[in-house]
Formats: sequence, C-alpha cells, structure tokens
Amino acid sequence: MILIVPIGYIPEWLIKDVAEFVDSYYSTRGVPVDVGDPISESLFLSAYHPFRRQFLGGAFLPTLSEIGRRKGALATVGITKVDLYERGMNFVFGVASENLRTAIVSIYRLRPEFYGKTSNDELLIERAVKEVMHELGHVFGLSHCPNIRCVMHFSNSVYDTDIKLPYYCPSCEKKLLQNLEVML
Ligand SMILES: [Zn+2]
Ligand SMILES: [Zn+2]
Repeated sequence: MILIVPIGYIPEWLIKDVAEFVDSYYSTRGVPVDVGDPISESLFLSAYHPFRRQFLGGAFLPTLSEIGRRKGALATVGITKVDLYERGMNFVFGVASENLRTAIVSIYRLRPEFYGKTSNDELLIERAVKEVMHELGHVFGLSHCPNIRCVMHFSNSVYDTDIKLPYYCPSCEKKLLQNLEVML
C-alpha cells in the first residue's frame, strides 16, 4: 500500500483527488493507495530555516517513514503546504528517499496564486498529481528522465511541471514495473 499523509491543513478535495489518481495507476499494478490521518506541522519545527523561511525537505522523511512503517506501507508520501528547500537549491517541489521508501511534496509553489495568477483548483490538483507520481518514481528507484513529457523529467519550474504528463514514459515504466516486482 502507498500511504498518503497530509501534513497540517491540506484541503480534503485535494488529497482525495490526488489519492484517487495515484490509486488508479498503482492499484492496477499491485499497490493500492490509502490516506492516513493528518499529522501536525509542529512535528517538523526543527526543519525550519528562519533566514530562508523554508523547511528542509529531507528532514520530514524519517518521521513520515516511521508512520508508514507502522501502517505496513510499501511507500509513504507526505503532502505539505510549507515551502521546501534542499542544500544547494533555492527550493524543491518535493524530495524522495529510495532507502526510506518515503517522499514529501509541497504544494506551496504549485498554487497559481504563488505566481500572481488566479487560483485554479483543477490546475493545482493536476500539478500535485504529477509531483506525487514523480516522487513515487524516485521512491521506486527511477532517476530523472530526458523526455520532457515523462513525469520523471526534472522540474526546474512549474512550467516544466505543466509540460509533463502525469505518467511514466515507456522506458521509465518498464523499469518501475521491474522494481515493483522485486519489492512486492
Ligand atoms: Zn526528481
Ligand atoms: Zn521517462
């Protein structure tokens, strides 16, 4: 099972739609999706960098992984509304660890409002789906893909995210299915 864990207040419709999409892909490949109880952002105060006003993405992973382990999840994905960074990067949309089988995705920079645009729930859902599918690809052993339409293409900006499809290209999917077969 893939466990999706809301961190802090994330609108229910967003979690539901993302979970449904990911489930529609992964459940037919042997891994259904479950949504866990929301957890408090206050668990991650030590990840906060006051000068950057951002949270270190990787610092969320051990706690999320432990929550997933207790529920018997094959993979765990946290969804947060805080802005994430990693060392050497201004920001990240998400971070994943193959070892911990865990990832985190931030919706902070997926909201059109962040770019001065009108809010658009459909677009936010579409972007969140792509980022969750992307990070899950890393969790299941995939690297970045040169195909700009493949969900495993690296997103430098939200424009890259908008160009991608929410699916793995044939060569990424082949590797994903091989890796899943070993894990299941
Ligand atoms: Zn990536
Ligand atoms: Zn690909």
